[in-house]
Amino acid sequence: MTQNSTTSAASASSHVFQAEIEQLLDLVIHSLYTHKEIFLRELVSNASDALDKLRVAALTDASLLPAGEELAIRIEVDEKRRIVRVIDNGIGMSAADVVENLGTIARSGTRRFLEQLKAAGGSDLPRLIGQFGVGFYASFMVAREVVVETRRAGEASATRWRSSGRGGFTVEPCERAERGTQVELHLAEAEEGPQGTLEDFAQAWRLEGIVKRYSDFVEYPIRMEEPGKPGTWKTVNARKPLWSRPKSEIQPDEYVEFYKSFTGDFEEPLETLHLSAEGGSVWQALLFVPRTRPFDALHSLQQKSQVHLYVKRVHIAPDCEELVPVWLRFVRGLVDSDDLPLNISRETLQHNRNLKPIRSRITRKCLEALAKLRDARPADYAVFWREHGAVLKEGLWHDDGFREEILAVSSWSSTHGDGTTTLAQYVERMPAAQKAIYVLPAPDARAAAASPHLEACRKKGYEVLLLTDPVDEFVLLKWTEHAGKPVQRLDRGVLDLDEEARAERERKEKDHARLVEDVQRTLGERVESVRLSSRLVDSPAVLAESEGALSPQLERMMRQAGQSVPDKRRVLELNPDHAVVQRLAALREQGGEPFERAVELVHGLAAISDGQAPSDPRRFARALSELLASG
Ligand code: ADP
Repeated sequence: MTQNSTTSAASASSHVFQAEIEQLLDLVIHSLYTHKEIFLRELVSNASDALDKLRVAALTDASLLPAGEELAIRIEVDEKRRIVRVIDNGIGMSAADVVENLGTIARSGTRRFLEQLKAAGGSDLPRLIGQFGVGFYASFMVAREVVVETRRAGEASATRWRSSGRGGFTVEPCERAERGTQVELHLAEAEEGPQGTLEDFAQAWRLEGIVKRYSDFVEYPIRMEEPGKPGTWKTVNARKPLWSRPKSEIQPDEYVEFYKSFTGDFEEPLETLHLSAEGGSVWQALLFVPRTRPFDALHSLQQKSQVHLYVKRVHIAPDCEELVPVWLRFVRGLVDSDDLPLNISRETLQHNRNLKPIRSRITRKCLEALAKLRDARPADYAVFWREHGAVLKEGLWHDDGFREEILAVSSWSSTHGDGTTTLAQYVERMPAAQKAIYVLPAPDARAAAASPHLEACRKKGYEVLLLTDPVDEFVLLKWTEHAGKPVQRLDRGVLDLDEEARAERERKEKDHARLVEDVQRTLGERVESVRLSSRLVDSPAVLAESEGALSPQLERMMRQAGQSVPDKRRVLELNPDHAVVQRLAALREQGGEPFERAVELVHGLAAISDGQAPSDPRRFARALSELLASG
């Protein structure tokens, strides 16, 4: 929070920036130096937001916007004194607003975001900051001092805010005839730019170019003085929002430019969708799939959509859950509806019937676009999947209605080759005799590929999908069948790949009934049960989950989330054909300590070979040292 210290002028109060602002300033200035010109985009975007807010406020209080008054943005340049002003006649700010908005970061999660941003270090900062949005503070990349004068709509008094970026800011009352805000930048000296060019923003033509590049679609006129003709103003932006123009007239690079300026991303999007309504309603949507996923911290914080809602070209909300499902939250862009009232509130949005058809069309169109991407641009699809796949898969859990469509554009690691496979490719390779789709959840593909659970399938030549995303556990709760075959996890339950294997296991069970019984007695409460396995070839033993148990992955997630996890016992499966188990059977005949020690070792080995720790590491270590000592 800000803190008052001694006043410097008669009525000016000094404040220090909230610690996070200093950090943000630091990051912005040091990481965006190759993109300094975006300061103007940020100021124009704030001005345009302020004009939107005034328009909405005037719906309930007409006196705020006198009839016939035009809402506009003005950019003034004094090339000699190196001053640039961005002026709007929008909603303005009260003295309290100024301190709150330009001195603190009120947005939740920002602190954590900044910490992670710092931890991430160097190279990716511009991209990360781009996703976050730097806003007003970008001014300090080019200005040595910033002076804001503002008067809130409906109020008589105005406020002046002044700062040189370092060490805080001052606030004092001032005179201002017009409603709205003026941001005045006292530019630093021109500097050498990234390509050896002179970075000088104190030039009208340069500013005009930046406006055209980043803010052309802003709906309000952005006016600048004609060079050499003081008092003659021209509008420098086209003002037609890209999304409301006919698709056929839009060039691909216009979409790219729009995306970059709208999202702050410095990369081109992977996919662009320009949609409009069908039937009676009127709306347009401009949606993008970014090439990189948001920085993780942001991603998990931001469990909501990134699609902005506009009503009749006016910005209403920066995110709107009703427009896209949570599992499409990597999609960025906007929806502009003509059917909603301008003064719609968040609460009424939730119940608005106009949003449902928009949402379902957007969902369908996004999935169609991803299917096209998969077929037409495999390399880009692979990027998409790597970056956003885990989020998309959440849809398998959330939305029964789109299961097939989501599965169709999903990919999985598999025991077939190094890369990923789609389900369609998997099914195509399936031998006729294969009874199920085999899957193995594991922390990572390497651990999975080494797991003893795979042995029987490997011997049979059956491909196994390796599920390595934490979200896969949830997916499996709902995804139990595909293409008429059950989806079978290899890490739980009794696994017989065919009738033959089952008959064989049952026959051997009779032969080994006493061994199984004695191993069970020796381990007691430490296992759920003991049985013979038909899933093993090379390993002597494995631990399987009982049907319906929490998997180790899920357990780990719950622990990480600070939840208590009930103690769980697993099933020890023995491979009757393995020399170790045959030796165990021989030891059983003699009974006593050597048998018990061997049981302990086999039990521990079963855990280790699947990447887990023995259930009682000390006991395991003791048994192993005794064995080694006894020669
Ligand atoms: P953001 O725009 O992402 O919220 P900024 O740092 O750019 O972040 O601005 C902080 C806040 O200051 C804005 O949310 C807005 O409330 C206020 N603000 C900035 N510029 C203006 C302006 N021209 N008119 C009115 N309010 C403004």
